[in-house]
Amino acid sequence: MWKPGTVFTTMRCLTHPLLRRLLGLSPQRMPGVLSQSPVLSPKCSPLRQSCSTRPRLVTATDVVNYWQKVFEANGIPEARESSEYIVSFVLGAKTFQSLNSKSLCTPLTAVQQEKIQQLSNKRLERMPVQYVLGEWDFQDLTLKMRPPVFIPRPETEDLVSLVVEEESRKCGKNLGLYFPVPVPHAVILEIGCGSGAIALSLLCKLPQSRIIAVDKEKSAVDLTRENAHRLRLQERIHILHHDVSYSSAKQLLLWGPIDFIVSNPPYVFREDMASLDTEVVRYEDLDALDGGDDGMRVIKTILALAPSLLKDSGSVFLEVDPRHPNMVENWLQAHPNLQLGIRAIHKDFCGKARFLHIQKQSR
Ligand code: GLN
Repeated sequence: MWKPGTVFTTMRCLTHPLLRRLLGLSPQRMPGVLSQSPVLSPKCSPLRQSCSTRPRLVTATDVVNYWQKVFEANGIPEARESSEYIVSFVLGAKTFQSLNSKSLCTPLTAVQQEKIQQLSNKRLERMPVQYVLGEWDFQDLTLKMRPPVFIPRPETEDLVSLVVEEESRKCGKNLGLYFPVPVPHAVILEIGCGSGAIALSLLCKLPQSRIIAVDKEKSAVDLTRENAHRLRLQERIHILHHDVSYSSAKQLLLWGPIDFIVSNPPYVFREDMASLDTEVVRYEDLDALDGGDDGMRVIKTILALAPSLLKDSGSVFLEVDPRHPNMVENWLQAHPNLQLGIRAIHKDFCGKARFLHIQKQSR
């Protein structure tokens, strides 16, 4: 059964590069974290080179094995993966599997060992690997990550694909073509942009589109802006520090009516917040997860606002909890004035109903 707040559990099943490839996901790295003093004596760590009178040459493999043991002894989840990600990052690679045999056998420099120690200490304090490394991959992009801005979860990559598919379908239909071509200037609104993962991926995949990305947290707005500039996508994105409410339409219609609204809103049920992973509770902005008693607090705001923002036949794409599709259906039936209907419910790669495609009905 799906357990709320299992960001890291979900990611755990995606750690293995082979599995990611099978699922058609990018060669993403995993979550991670640092400590006071490891249970294993750091004095005898391969990082110190001082257990014998002569300095011991340590390789990447030695260090990965060492930190895996330290993490295990300290009860750190995903011990092996955490250790591999940190060591490969310091060696300039995305995954341990991608290191060639030369890199694996070459002794690490003192500077590299020191850096690995610093990062591993953070993981020992249960900091997620994404924050430890300060960057993470989402689809084809490498994004800067910083606490407390919400870390994009792997399942959200599918939300992006759904918007891209709908855009392609619409374009082909509009032009009566079998092979779709992009319609110029689709306007997309992302509510709750966090690090910018969804918005920036969409800008890459839909080169004619423009995006308004809003977040109520200044730290998220700043990070989205930084990521947009690093990826040279700043020309097509308008980033707004704004807490969306029922009266937000005016601020959000700066480019006219919107084709797609996309959001991974906070949707965790309040009662489930207590079972979130330690990594999440200690480091991430919990407002980005807490959806109120029924997990629908922000979902309802988005749906109430959508009709005044969307073009006729425009769509809302939402990531939700698997209990939400029924609840949203009932809520929309109770609010027929909104003229919104569920067009499709899509499952995530774990088979859970996770994404809603809601459409504005043309008059
Ligand atoms: N997928 C996240 C989790 O399970 C929730 C994300 C969200 O609330 N938007 O913890």
